[in-house]
Order: sequence, then structure tokens, then C-alpha cells
Amino acid sequence: MKYFETHAHYSDEAFLENQSEILKKCKENGIEYIIDVGYNIKSSIDAIELAKKYDFIYSAIGIHPHDVNNADYNELYNLYKDNANGKIVAIGEIGLDYAFVSDNKAEQIDLFINQIEVANKLKLPIIIHSRDAYLDTYNVIKEHKPLYGALFHCFHPNDDLVRLVKENGYTVAFGGNITYKRGKKFAEYVKEIPIEQIVIETDSPYLPPEPYRGTINTSLNLPIICNKLAEYKEMDVEQVAKIVYENSKRFFNIKE
Ligand SMILES: [Zn+2]
Ligand SMILES: [Zn+2]
Repeated sequence: MKYFETHAHYSDEAFLENQSEILKKCKENGIEYIIDVGYNIKSSIDAIELAKKYDFIYSAIGIHPHDVNNADYNELYNLYKDNANGKIVAIGEIGLDYAFVSDNKAEQIDLFINQIEVANKLKLPIIIHSRDAYLDTYNVIKEHKPLYGALFHCFHPNDDLVRLVKENGYTVAFGGNITYKRGKKFAEYVKEIPIEQIVIETDSPYLPPEPYRGTINTSLNLPIICNKLAEYKEMDVEQVAKIVYENSKRFFNIKE
């Protein structure tokens, strides 16, 4: 089976010693595409450079809410303009995260809105990171519509978000989180979201799926996530793999 990794951070220090080895293994094991995702200017440049080095890697550039304090989002325009072959296919990851710091909500919201505008001007989709901030995320997206697609990464569903996603045709990515022990409701939400709007990710090196929690995650774990998704959807796993693969290519507008 072929897989499309929609979210990974291969310039993370966790891969300092084995980055090329892991990427080679990915290629050998059916990982046909990887989106390497930036979370500040430095990691966005790293993602661009990685995409220049490897045919099967594409980049997303953006500033994560954790980096709100030194966030020069205008720099994203320059990165895009100066790196025609950096295969930049999205603005991300961007969004809101109130899990650790919640006394800077206004700044986070401003940065999120400004980067949605960058994406709209560059005609790129966005990759959204949202943690403990679903209501504000919901309101921002409703008011400031991403015009070229929105992907909710590591999607944690609830009634409002699932409705927003369905109404607007947005895309959601499930990762290791889908394998964790969840209430019945989680499975019901997964069932409710059309398969055409779902992709898979690992968020490597973070969020390893069961039974590998506590280890360094890699894209080689994508089949585990795909299996779980097929189980929740009560669909054939090969069919699910094929559909989410095509969804990913379509979302990131990758033709080759
Ligand atoms: Zn994230
Ligand atoms: Zn991430």
C-alpha cells in the first residue's frame, strides 16, 4: 500500500543522527510523500531545505502559536518568493494553543488571522493546530475564511467542529491520537465525517500511536493509523489507504 504523510517534523533534534536513514526507510516502505511542517521561521527554512534535498518531501511554512512572541509572519512572503523549488504547498502549522499558555490569547488570535491572510494571498491551504482552544479556532475560521483549503491536524472532534468541517468541506487529519483509548463518541464522530475529508499523519517525532507510546514516532507508523481509521469507518483498509492518499494529493495540490 502507498501512504501520504501529511504532517511530520524531520528536522527535529530527535532525528539528528538518523534523519537520512529514517527517510530512506520511509521511501522503501511505501511512504510516497511527506509534508515537512514548520512551526517558526527557522524550522520553516529547514522544511524548505529538506524539500529541496528529497523529491518526495514537500514543505509547509508557518508560525505555531507557541512562537507568538517572536513571530514575523511577513517573513513567510519572502520565504515563499525566494524558494520556488522549496515545494511550499501550505501555510502551517498555525492556530491556537491554550494548553500551556493562555494569557496571550489576543496575540495568538492576531497571529492566526494574519497567517490565514498570508495563505489567502499566496493561494495556499492552511494546516491548523488547535489545542484547548476549539471555540476561538471555530470563531476565527468562521470570520476569516481560508480560501484554498483548511486541514485540522491531529483533529479532536466535537459537535461544533464536525459541523464546521462538514459544512465547509474542510479536511481533518487523524494521527496517533486515533489509536488512544477514547470514549464511544470519538468513534461516532469519525464515522460521521465523510472519508473524502480525511487524511492521516504522524506528527513525528511526537504522538506515537499505540502500542509505541513513549518512543520516537516516524512515518513508518502510518499503517497503524490507517488500520484504526478503517476499523472506525468499518471499511476495507486498502480502500481507506487509497482514498486518504488521493485526498492528500488533492488537498496539497500535488500533481506529480
Ligand atoms: Zn501541532
Ligand atoms: Zn506538528
